[in-house]
Amino acid sequence: MNDHQGHSWSIVDSASLYGVNDWGAGYFGLSEKGEITVIAPHNGRSHQISLLDIVAGLEQRGHAMPVLLRIENLLDQRITYLNESFAEAIRQMNYQGEYRGVFPIKVNQQCHVVEEIAKFGSQYHHGLEAGSKAELIIAMSHLQDREACIICNGYKDAEFIQLGLHARKLGLKCFFVIETPSELGIILEQSKRLGIEPLIGVRLKLAAKVEGHWFEDSGDRSLFGLTVTQLVDVLDRLREAEMLHCLQLMHYHIGSQIPNIRNIRDGVQEACRYYVDLVKEGAPLGHLDLGGGLAVDYTGARTNETHSKNYSLEEYCVDIVETITEALNNSDIPHPTLITESGRATVAYSSVLLFNILDVSYFKSNGIPDQLPEDCTESLDNLWATLQSLNDTNLQECCNDAAHYREDMRRMFRQGQVQLRELALAENLYLEVLQRTRLLLPSLRRIPPELANLDEALADIYYGNFSLFQSLPDSWAIDQIFPVMPIHRLTEAPTNKAIIADLTCDSDGKLDLFANADGETRTLPLHDLKEGEEYYLGVFLVGAYQETLGDLHNLFGDTHVVSVRIDGEGQFEFVEEIQGDTIGDVLSYVEYNPKELYEKFRICAETAVRSGSISVAERQRMLKTFSNSLNGYTYFERD
Ligand SMILES: *Cc1c(COP(=O)(O)O)cnc(C)c1O
Repeated sequence: MNDHQGHSWSIVDSASLYGVNDWGAGYFGLSEKGEITVIAPHNGRSHQISLLDIVAGLEQRGHAMPVLLRIENLLDQRITYLNESFAEAIRQMNYQGEYRGVFPIKVNQQCHVVEEIAKFGSQYHHGLEAGSKAELIIAMSHLQDREACIICNGYKDAEFIQLGLHARKLGLKCFFVIETPSELGIILEQSKRLGIEPLIGVRLKLAAKVEGHWFEDSGDRSLFGLTVTQLVDVLDRLREAEMLHCLQLMHYHIGSQIPNIRNIRDGVQEACRYYVDLVKEGAPLGHLDLGGGLAVDYTGARTNETHSKNYSLEEYCVDIVETITEALNNSDIPHPTLITESGRATVAYSSVLLFNILDVSYFKSNGIPDQLPEDCTESLDNLWATLQSLNDTNLQECCNDAAHYREDMRRMFRQGQVQLRELALAENLYLEVLQRTRLLLPSLRRIPPELANLDEALADIYYGNFSLFQSLPDSWAIDQIFPVMPIHRLTEAPTNKAIIADLTCDSDGKLDLFANADGETRTLPLHDLKEGEEYYLGVFLVGAYQETLGDLHNLFGDTHVVSVRIDGEGQFEFVEEIQGDTIGDVLSYVEYNPKELYEKFRICAETAVRSGSISVAERQRMLKTFSNSLNGYTYFERD
């Protein structure tokens, strides 16, 4: 295939244009056919499965787009990689303690995900972190492994503590991490009442600051954790209650998605100072919990910018283990069991949001006539002349002139001096000027600042069959960048620059921030739609935080969720298929009763029959459509 300038275009060009090999981290690739593939290693071999084949399989099974696809192999891969990387760092540094990962349930609470982590992770004694009673209940029912940890963060009431003490009694390694001084009283009281000794941790507020979006979680003003004064007070109260031996863990969490490895090192270093002094104070400790923060490189840029990271997982592990080893080597304090609570880096890769494009609003002129009609408005003549005179020496001037004449035409239209068809012609000429300008820009040595945003101003709008608010809430809430790209046609050069609008009627419901080789851009290269053929896009790395933060904006509900597993033969199996919300489901979430709605509509229709305005047969058709809708998907369905 050739691009519009006649260069041949291959999957290598697509791979570099969309950065697949950068953000894909070896889990995603391109096939010869120009389709995105999932790469699943199996005993030294690896299999590539085309996402388009998975989509075809989904549609055969009646799952219309949009679908959230989970790839179980990638979840397993990430847990293995995390645990093996720490194990390797521990060997290298001759560290005397062990590593115990815990998965923070809040990052993806879906039953199937937590089940898989608990099951697959058991070979590494991978545990769970709970920040609420509901999450503790999940953790207690899923972990039977006495070597694995359950870490309880968050505000804890008496019932929370009772649940955790019961877990303790059953032999589970369940730690209460004290976040505020008042929690200690409740723990001591409940433990006395039930006669069960707790495992206690303290959460520290470190002075170390991190870069990135979670800047505020770190430093003096962070919301969680004990200040030094409160820490000393907790120590004294524990000693007084003769419970200091229960203080077996020290915890901190300085934010999620920490892009700079230096911040991670600084955090560990500071934490070690506390660790040493707490042990000298007589606390046994033995567990050092570094919280989350291990970042995902969403842009693939390998920098210390918010959506990226400037370190590998291996470096992360080595830096942590090395820093602790150095900090403790001058004391005779034993190396602690190392805990991290990596959520994002564990689950982000395993989910992909798949949707189809329903329509495109091309921001192109419809072509221009050979000549203007006789005696047209002077401004239209001027616009025409501007277009004719456009060349690479007068781009800026022509764009300014064109804008001026178009504004004239709009003004005269408002005043009734210009008719609809003349205005349409003017708008078309104006777009033509901008478009030709955009094509000439690359030949300029210096691009005038006013013209730098032309791509954005001329971006085509692709309408995607999904809700940003339901499926990509962080894109809306914190301007999170996710890799987005077509999952097929990658042997063809994309000819358009686009933004993507979702199905909601909200002007915020759009994707207009993307990563590319030069950093962030406002438009995404996409292909023209083909008649009679679906165009599918994927949003990648969406496994962390997106699923339950989503909301019912415009009453678009949960999408279908399908888990696949790729086996040793390179075949894939749909291991779990969860139907998305029906319209009836989402209506009942906002307190409507679907049966009552149907009954109300039936009465309307029946009244119409009696008054003679519709026939009984028409009534039946209407009721059938109404009832099918109530039981149908909330997203756009093709006939
Ligand atoms: C959110 C959270 C995490 C998870 O952080 P990631 O950056 O997603 O790994 C871990 N620990 C605590 C206490 C948290 O609040």
